[in-house]
Amino acid sequence: MNSIDACHVDVHHTLKGTPFLTEPGVVLLSRPEMLSDELATFLAGFDASLEFNDYLSDPVTLSPADALAKTAGQTCYASFGPKRTWNENAGRYFQNIKSSGHGSVLEHATFSMLFYGVSRSLTHELVRHRAGTAMSQISQRYVDGRVLRFVERPEFQSHPGLHTLFMSRIDRAAGEYEDLADLLEVVHRESLEGFKRTERRKIVNQAARASLPNEVEAPIVFSGNCRAWRHMLEARGSAHAEPEIRALFHKVLRILQSQAPMIFSDYRLEPNEQGVDEVATEFRKV
Ligand SMILES: Cc1cc2nc3c(=O)[nH]c(=O)nc-3n(C[C@H](O)[C@H](O)[C@H](O)COP(=O)(O)OP(=O)(O)OC[C@H]3O[C@@H](n4cnc5c(N)ncnc54)[C@H](O)[C@@H]3O)c2cc1C
Repeated sequence: MNSIDACHVDVHHTLKGTPFLTEPGVVLLSRPEMLSDELATFLAGFDASLEFNDYLSDPVTLSPADALAKTAGQTCYASFGPKRTWNENAGRYFQNIKSSGHGSVLEHATFSMLFYGVSRSLTHELVRHRAGTAMSQISQRYVDGRVLRFVERPEFQSHPGLHTLFMSRIDRAAGEYEDLADLLEVVHRESLEGFKRTERRKIVNQAARASLPNEVEAPIVFSGNCRAWRHMLEARGSAHAEPEIRALFHKVLRILQSQAPMIFSDYRLEPNEQGVDEVATEFRKV
């Protein structure tokens, strides 16, 4: 499978020029790298009769994330010699890892992604995931109205009336935010004197953001190890998840399956009884 590094989406504008997006965009920012030369030095330190040196001359190459997790797992039993599971049989190796719930070896491989075109209500759900994750989200205190964009939910896109309401609502929200920020500047003018520009902006923005709706865009950099990504794919890619976050995780799945085919090989998108595509696997929560 070709490696997928991003799923970009377009930015649209209302007639008044308010920017909005209609689906999540995903940018892969970082992925694992295997430094095999250094591993070779470690392997060379064992008795030659063990033939550990051959570990790195496996004719089948795995993706760096898969190779890292497999090497981590094989370190547990010093499985570096000729009787180890070779990369050709990596599928079976990862099947065993998943079916035995030995998911800790998957924690070594970490991917970082930038999500955009995602609403504040989506990220409010996303940031509930703690284990094995790190996140940095746009600050509504430090960032002002010039980067304000909105996200249109799928339900609003498919209905002319709801779409028209969305457009007028975000025009109004952008306008009200600007008016509020301008008035806050005036109200606080005296008390803001002497503050640096960034500090003044923070004092104004942290009050002005009270008027922003849940459908404001909230770009976020989200890092997770592969065990955490698996858990989130199952929780957020399921039919129980709400449509916006589910759409995001279906894209995350495409990217991760291209980057770490072995770790994510068991996942497939399957329609449930209501015809909603959901992430399915026989190895839940490894
Ligand atoms: C469809 C859906 C509906 C939801 N509805 C609501 C709702 O109505 N209200 C609401 O408040 N939340 C809701 N949530 C959020 C949910 O309750 C979790 O907070 C969120 O999904 C994070 O998942 P997690 O708890 O598995 O944590 P993660 O941080 O993703 O942790 C992964 C796993 O690590 C283990 N773990 C993590 N932290 C601990 C810990 N402190 N102690 C022991 N084990 C730990 C658990 O096994 C956990 O499943 C919903 C989630 C989904 C997917």
